This record gives sequence, structure tokens and C-alpha cells, in this order.
Amino acid sequence: MKKKRIAILGATGSIGTQALSVVREHRELFDVEVLTAAGNATLLIEQAMEFLPKVVVITDESKRAAVDEVLGSKGIEVLSGQQALEEVVQRPLIDIVLTALVGFAGLKPTIAAIKSGKNIALANKETLVVAGELIMKLAEKNEVAILPVDSEHSAIYQCLVGEEKSTLEKIYLTASGGPFRGKDATSLSTITKKEALMHPNWVMGQKITIDSASLMNKGLEVIEAKWLFGLDVDQIEVVVHPQSIIHSLVQFKDGSLKAQMGLPDMKLPIQYALTYPGRLANTFERFDFLKHPCLSFEQPDTKTFANLALAFDALRSGGNMPCVLNAANEVAVAAFLRDETGFREMSTIISETLQKIPFIASPKLDDYLQTDKEARLFAEQLVTKKKKVYQIEK
Ligand code: NDP
Ligand code: MG
Repeated sequence: MKKKRIAILGATGSIGTQALSVVREHRELFDVEVLTAAGNATLLIEQAMEFLPKVVVITDESKRAAVDEVLGSKGIEVLSGQQALEEVVQRPLIDIVLTALVGFAGLKPTIAAIKSGKNIALANKETLVVAGELIMKLAEKNEVAILPVDSEHSAIYQCLVGEEKSTLEKIYLTASGGPFRGKDATSLSTITKKEALMHPNWVMGQKITIDSASLMNKGLEVIEAKWLFGLDVDQIEVVVHPQSIIHSLVQFKDGSLKAQMGLPDMKLPIQYALTYPGRLANTFERFDFLKHPCLSFEQPDTKTFANLALAFDALRSGGNMPCVLNAANEVAVAAFLRDETGFREMSTIISETLQKIPFIASPKLDDYLQTDKEARLFAEQLVTKKKKVYQIEK
């Protein structure tokens, strides 16, 4: 494999740090040229001292001076602000951009990277949820690859290698079911932040951990899959598989099923996206059949976990509705993490926001930006209104 020059947006997060541990094992194959963080200056500095990128970005402007004080003398350029992410991804010194930052903030830098011809290793699923059609068209026009990092999408991508797209009948996205699988609506009402942050199979950033507990993560992944693989909604099914060994499956027209399996470890899909179409030898723990004698499957409970149904509805409505869903969810999750709303109330906030924001059938980039703004504002107002009721009831 020719050496690849990488930019990691969100280097200090769960995906970012795991990506760096993949790189650490194969220094001869990768040059880390750009690292970015939002506010974690200490870790960003530590990473930069180890990987010696040409540029780092700390989006929190107030931390720039502190980062520059240490890294400036090492000849590392230090930038700050959200806008710097869009600028830095366009630099000619990069081959591939790993989008490992969280939420809507990934949209603009991803667009800038695609427009300047950079391949994308996409962890930031929110970008495809918000503007999947726009992103995939832009990628096609600029002849760049969008390589999925999300484990389910990496699984589907791997199953499709060597297959004719026209032979695909449907895909099954597997879901662990999260920490509250099997619970009823009443017991979900009293869920605490601490409980929701304990995922049974994966250690991840806070936002995606809450999304996994509420099944919104699977909803976002359904939308992500629609755009990545150019599918109709009816070609996507979710199946609960609590052991997280089968990462997803493709069903072909002859009824044959192909699955990608392995231990739940994000380093593998990260490595695959960074080395595609090659495969690299590594020392990750191997699967042992005898330790996993039972793989089980269930239907998702979309009555209790309304977020999954809301995501399917938003996708069926199309236009700017997935963008509304994403914005309202980001606001609801942030409020839940601040103890300002309950676990089930998150679905109410999302549902009411979806009903309120005007539908746009064929949104352009500005429409998405405007929709995101309006949806956030409305959802924030709902949080404030409901906060009083929630705190009285608590
Ligand atoms: P984390 O919260 O662990 O990390 C987020 C990273 O993005 C951090 O480096 C953070 O910086 C930075 N960041 C946060 N907000 C902003 C912002 N507004 N602008 C710029 N940078 C920002 O998230 P994860 O690594 O868990 O997830 C990253 C993405 O990958 C998400 O879209 C998630 O859905 C997806 N994903 C994650 C998986 C996982 O296993 N974690 C699995 C599949 C997908 P700082 O540290 O300074 O705050
Ligand atoms: Mg996933």
C-alpha cells in the first residue's frame, strides 16, 4: 500500500484515539498530517507531540494560545475556530480525511474535503443523515470515495466487495438493543444518565452512547445506509442481535445471506476504511467460536423505543425531515446529559419538532443550514418548557 497522508477531525474522541492506535501500529503506512479537537487541548498536544502533524486545529478559540505555546516551537501550525476545519481539509498534503467529530459540525468540513478531492473515511454519520443526497452526489461528481467507519456499514461494504449492486435484495442492520433491551415504557421513564451511559458491548463517546440506548443510533444508521448504498427504505431492515458479533448482513436476489462478523472492536472498521481496498495484518484479538456458542436475534421494539420509528418516518418523508430529526435529537441528547429532560421525553421533543418545521422537498445546502437552525431553536424551546414539568415530576 502506498503511504497515506491522513487528517483526523475529532482526533481526541473515541474514534479519533482508536484511529491513532491503528496508525501507531503501522507508522510505515500512514503520515498523520492534521489533527483536530474541540476543546481537549491537553490530549491534542500529547497526540501532536507523538505524531508530529503539519497542522492542528482546536476549534475552541480560547485554547489556541495554550496549544500554540507548546506546538509552535515544534514547527506545527496551530489554527482555531470552526471555520479552520473547512480550510485545513483542503490542503494538498492530505489524501484521506477521517471525519470522527460528532454531530452536525461534521457537515461543512466534509463538504469542503470532498470538493477538494479528498477521500473520506466517514465516522460522522450525522453528515449523511442531514444531507445524504447532497453528499453522495458531490462525492460522485468529485470522484471521491466515501468509506464507512460505522461497523454496520463497514460490514455491508465488505459484503458487497466483488458483487454486482443489482443482485442486492436487501440489507439487515444489526443492533445490540442497548442497555435497556426488553424494558417496557414505564421502566424507561426513570432511566438515569448514568444508566444510559453504560453500553453493554461498546465504549464510545457520550452522544452516540445515548443514541444507542434510545435506538436513535440505529435510526441514524438506517438513513446513513440508504445514502451510502443507494437503497430504498424498504430494502433496509433492523434486527436486534445482542451479542454484536454479526455486524450486519446483505441478502442477495437468490436468497443468499452474506454477513461480516468479528468481535466488537471499532479498530477493525477504522483500519479497513484507512487501508481499503487492502487488508492489513494486525494483532487484534481473534474470534473464538466456543466463547460465543449462541448468537440470537429479535425484532426491535419500536413502540417502546419510538426513536427508531421516528427515524424511519423521517426517511420516508424525505426532503429536510432527516435534518430536522438530527437537530432535534442533538438538542434532546444534550438536554438529557444536562439532566434537563427525561429519557422518554427525548422522543417527544423530536416528534414535536418534526411536526413543527416546514417541509422542504428538495433542499439545497442553505436549506439544510436553515432547517438545522430552526429545528434546534424550536427543540431548545421545548426543552425549556418541559424542563419545569420534568423537574417537578422528578
Ligand atoms: P467523541 O465524543 O468521543 O469524540 C468527538 C470528537 O469530536 C472529539 O475529538 C471532540 O473534541 C470533537 N468535537 C466535538 N464536537 C465538535 C465540534 N462541534 N467541532 C469540532 N470538533 C468537535 O465521539 P465518538 O468518537 O464516539 O464519535 C464520533 C463520530 O463517530 C460520531 O458521529 C459517532 O456517531 C460516530 N461513530 C462512533 C462510534 C464509536 O464507537 N465511538 C461508532 C460508529 C460511529 P474534544 O475531545 O476536544 O471535545
Ligand atoms: Mg454503528
